[in-house]
Order: sequence, then structure tokens, then C-alpha cells
Amino acid sequence: MTKLEPLLDKLYLLEHDLDGTKVRGAIVLGEKKALIWDTLIYPEGMRLILDICQNREIVVVYSHADWDHVWGTCALPYTEVIAHERCAARFADPSDVEKSLLDYQAKYPQALKGIELIAPTRTFKDKLSLDLGGLSADLSYLPGHTQDGIVAFIPELGVLLGGDALETPLPLIYEDSPLSSWINDLERWSQDTRVKTVIPSHGEIKGKALILYNVAYLKTMQAGKAFDLPYELDDFYKTAHARNQRVSPGLE
Ligand SMILES: [Zn+2]
Repeated sequence: MTKLEPLLDKLYLLEHDLDGTKVRGAIVLGEKKALIWDTLIYPEGMRLILDICQNREIVVVYSHADWDHVWGTCALPYTEVIAHERCAARFADPSDVEKSLLDYQAKYPQALKGIELIAPTRTFKDKLSLDLGGLSADLSYLPGHTQDGIVAFIPELGVLLGGDALETPLPLIYEDSPLSSWINDLERWSQDTRVKTVIPSHGEIKGKALILYNVAYLKTMQAGKAFDLPYELDDFYKTAHARNQRVSPGLE
């Protein structure tokens, strides 16, 4: 249910899964602060990270407000919860974050009991830089998969935490996805020579190839053309790919 493992010095990965969804968060250990990139699904599972955080101040950052990224916060002794201002708006909308939790709790009452939603306590619009002590985290707005998406870049590690802006076997596009700006933003990251490792919330961890793969996929969907997928798709991604093909052509 919960898997914790080191990826790099000062960076750990945490994974949860539910209902066929596998989601990944990250813990970045500065000297003073630990940045928790998403709190995933299970509050109890998040407690595993307390040992590695030791006496550091815990700062939670949400990549966006989707259900599989934000439920574990209530188990953590955080000092702040940072996200895009649109993420906070989604927490304030009873038909969004709150409804998703109630729907899933009705389906999985045992596994999902005791979750208390924690809305962002600090928001930003375009960019926000955090000093973790010896490491920094540059948060940037990157709407695409959802309107409230952000990415985090850790310059000292060359790591880009992509949230759901990048994914394998394919990213998920919706009717309101700003496809052109999504593609432009990803292309800009693909040209940034500081980026060495790209960590998406779902799918494979890779280098720049992951960004270029997603750019190619999004451009092909926007052009309404067929994309030669190098992956075998399960039912979830088959449905997602069909939706992407339906909603993307001509999407701005
Ligand atoms: Zn997700």
C-alpha cells in the first residue's frame, strides 16, 4: 500500500495505490526544511516519512488538487501547505475535492476512514521559490492536465517534479486543458540544461526524454493525428487515450 525508497541523496520517493491508480510523491530534504511533494492517498502511509524528516520543518506542496495527491496531509505536523491559488479554489468548491473524497469513501469506507481534507495555507500565482536550507525548490505554475497544476524544480539536484503535467504511458487531457500553453511550458523545460531527472506522479522516471515524449504526444493529439504508442495500455489508459483523441483536436 505504501512504498518509501531513496532515489538520490536528499530525495526520497513515496508511492500509494488505490483502485488501479498508482501515485508517487517525493520528499526533498533540505538542512532546515523537508518539502513533501504531494501527500497522496493514505494519512497513515504518510507517517512513514517522519523518521527521515527528523527534526526538520515539514512543508507540504500540492502539485494539484486531484484526489490521489492531497489526502494524506492530516497525518503530518506540517507548518504550511503551499499550492497554486486555483488549487485552493478547488478545495473551497464542495463539488470538487470534497465530493471526490466522499465518493471514494463510499466505495472504500475502511481504507479511507479518518481522512481530513487540508486546504492550502499559502498560495501563489506564477512562481514561488522556497529555501529548504542547502537546497531550494522553484515552484512554477504549469496548467495543462488541470488548471491548478504546478511543477517544482530542485536546481541543486537537477530534478523536475512534474506532477501530472507529464506522465507515461500518456498524459490525461480534458476539455478545459490549455493545450498550447501546456506544450509551450513543457518545451521550455525540455530546453533547460539544468534538468537531469524528471519525476512524474504516475509512470516512469526518466531524463529529458520524458518531457519530449509528452510534448510529442500532446502535439499529435492537438493535430488530431494518430500517435504510435510504445506502451501496452491497460483499460484506464485505453479510456484516457480515447478521451484525449476526442477532446484534443483544435484545443487551444
Ligand atoms: Zn494524479
